[in-house]
Amino acid sequence: MPRPILYYSTNLKAPRVSFKEALLKGLAPDGGLYMPESLPEMDNATLNALTGKKYYEIAHTVLELFLTTDIPGDELLAMAMDAYDYDVPLEPVYERKFLLRLDRGPTASFKDFAARMMGRLMQYFLHLENRDMLILTATSGDTGSAIANAFYGLENIRVVVLFPEKEVTERQRKQMTTLGKNVHIIGIEGKFDDCQALVKKAFSDPQLDRLNLSSANSINIGRLIPQSVYFFFAWSMLKNRENEPVIFSVPSGNFGDLMGGLIAFHMGLPVKKFVVSTNENDEVPVYFQTGKYKTIIPSRDCISSAMNVGHPSNMARIIALYGGVMDEHGVIIKEPDVARLKKAMHSISINDLHTKAILKSVYERHHVLLEPHGAVGWAGLQEYFRSSPEDAVSSQLAVCLETAHPAKFPAEINELLGFDPELPDSMKGLDQKKESWETMKSDYNLLKIYLLDKFSR
Ligand SMILES: *Cc1c(COP(=O)(O)O)cnc(C)c1O
Repeated sequence: MPRPILYYSTNLKAPRVSFKEALLKGLAPDGGLYMPESLPEMDNATLNALTGKKYYEIAHTVLELFLTTDIPGDELLAMAMDAYDYDVPLEPVYERKFLLRLDRGPTASFKDFAARMMGRLMQYFLHLENRDMLILTATSGDTGSAIANAFYGLENIRVVVLFPEKEVTERQRKQMTTLGKNVHIIGIEGKFDDCQALVKKAFSDPQLDRLNLSSANSINIGRLIPQSVYFFFAWSMLKNRENEPVIFSVPSGNFGDLMGGLIAFHMGLPVKKFVVSTNENDEVPVYFQTGKYKTIIPSRDCISSAMNVGHPSNMARIIALYGGVMDEHGVIIKEPDVARLKKAMHSISINDLHTKAILKSVYERHHVLLEPHGAVGWAGLQEYFRSSPEDAVSSQLAVCLETAHPAKFPAEINELLGFDPELPDSMKGLDQKKESWETMKSDYNLLKIYLLDKFSR
């Protein structure tokens, strides 16, 4: 019998827990993030056998290495099949350089990959224990729709999303309000910060304990492990039997996407380098250059808006993976192995002007349509090639992740290229669907009454 993998807190002041506990808790009680104590190894035979497999089969293979002792294999396979019922295209751009499009899920962003698997994993454990959970989350647009769609129709889980009524686009709102069933959407008369303050208050209110609240936010370990899968998938699609190491470029904000890649790498995926591209929120590239980490508050507004993060929460995990300790405020308590860190990663900041120029030139030169986040990734890759000529050769394999669908950014694309991108299937017909949501003043007592009224058992 293999031993279960346990999860420790990056602050090192909380007991180790099982996967189930880490998943259902989210944050460790000492304020740290959960990390697997050891990473399972993907041996060469298993790696090579991935070639030709479907996405959900690869997800099953990877997840089973973590969860053999927690979930029966056939149940895990069923979850993966249900979560990943959409395409994951690997698009050739030039020579042996590719774009991995992670935008074909229900909300057309890569967040669907993590949220859909996390929802199914939570449902599995809650069902086993005959427990219910109420997901309460605040959104400025995209996270809320990914969570609402991922948990839509699941048993034992209800979802309440608060959004600032006047601050989301019509499309973003419709991706949440046209669902129904176990998904409840509330437009708050206020700003995103008000929504977040309401959620925070609810989590610290003992009178709501019986509702079993969870936030399902991006720091959950149940989102990171599924995010390692598409790195294996990309590798399998390259039909790379020689085990040539690949360069991955990952446009980054909270660094969850990158953590997925690092997990894959430390499990045995042949990676030459991660190019870690940020927008003008350059705290991580600066850390790589100077060894000094300084958060950016408030974060800088860039067109790759989902990456406007001045203190990525997953930094603590990256530091932990390389033997250091960083607390939740971004203070380095123990230095990581910087030499090993820099060998694995090259970090670079791309400004908005550069992002736009790349989006335009890649379309004109290669007929490949990017959106602002993917453009940051592509620009980072090109800059890496400029600074490392030994890797800028035609035979070098490289994959850049495209994290959202261009149709989510019609204004930016129209400004640069003069046309509106075509809608993906998931967004077609959205305009005709019936919406339903409630509105509420930004008043904690109103929210509390609503939650107790509706969800007490
Ligand atoms: C969230 C997001 C990112 C950043 O991902 P992290 O895991 O936070 O680094 C990049 N692109 C898009 C479109 C996103 O929604």
